[in-house]
Amino acid sequence: MCGIFGYSGNIDAKKILLEGLKKLEYRGYDSVGIALRNECNDTNIFKVVGKIDSLKELTKDNKIKGNIGIGHTRWATHGAATINNAHPIGSNDNNIIGVHNGIIENYQELKDKLLNKGYIFNSSTDTEVIINLVDYYYKKYKIGPIDAINKALLRARGTYALALIFKDYPNQVWFTKKGSPLLVAKKDDESFLASDSFALIEYTNKIYYVEDYECGVLEKGMITFFDLNGNDITNTKHEIILRSEERRV
Ligand code: GLU
Repeated sequence: MCGIFGYSGNIDAKKILLEGLKKLEYRGYDSVGIALRNECNDTNIFKVVGKIDSLKELTKDNKIKGNIGIGHTRWATHGAATINNAHPIGSNDNNIIGVHNGIIENYQELKDKLLNKGYIFNSSTDTEVIINLVDYYYKKYKIGPIDAINKALLRARGTYALALIFKDYPNQVWFTKKGSPLLVAKKDDESFLASDSFALIEYTNKIYYVEDYECGVLEKGMITFFDLNGNDITNTKHEIILRSEERRV
C-alpha cells in the first residue's frame, strides 16, 4: 500500500502533487502518476514506471495548468509494475478518474459482473474494477458521486483509500476510505488530501482524519463529509491541529 495525494485550489496542482508525492516517497513504490484538470475541464494523465523525478521530467512541458489534481505512488498488489497498471486509472470513458491505495479482495467477482455489462479492462488492477463499478452505479441510477461511491463500496470487500475526479464535477475531488489511512486538510482557498500527514504538514497543520465508510468532497478551501446514507455529517467533524511529533500516521 502506498501513497495518495489530492488537491483543489488556485495554484498549479502539478507542483503541489509532485511535492506531496515526494513526501510519500519514503514508503517505497514502483510507479507514480498524476491527473491534472483545469477550469475548462481538460484533463491530462501522466504516469511513469519508476521515480517521481522521471514524472517531473515527463510533465515539464505540460500546457494544462490544472488547479485540481490527484496523484499516486503505487506498490503493485494486482498486476505488474506497468504504465497501464499505474494510477491514476480512468473508467471506460474516463468519466471517472481515480487513485487507490489498498486491495479490493472480491475484485474478480465485481470484474465479472462488469464484463457482463459490457465494461472492458485495460489494466490488471483491482483499482480499475472499483472505479468502473462507481461509474456503473453513477450511470445506472443517475445519482451523484456520493451515492454512486457508497453503492460501489457496499459491494467491495477489502481495504481502500480512494480519490476520484468526475467529469461532471470539474472542480471537485471526491474521497472515501476503509482500513487504509486518509487525511484531508484545508488552508484558505485550498484543500488537500493525503494518505499520510507528513505530506500535508508543509501546507497546513489543520487536518481531519477521514473515518472508515465516510465519503467526502474537496473544493477550493472547503471540505464536505457524508455518511454511508449520503447524509451531510460535516458538522460532526473536528479539526485536529497537528503537533510536529505527530506528523506521521
Ligand atoms: N491494489 C492496487 C494496485 O495494485 C493499489 C496498490 C497500492 O496501494 O499502491 O494497483
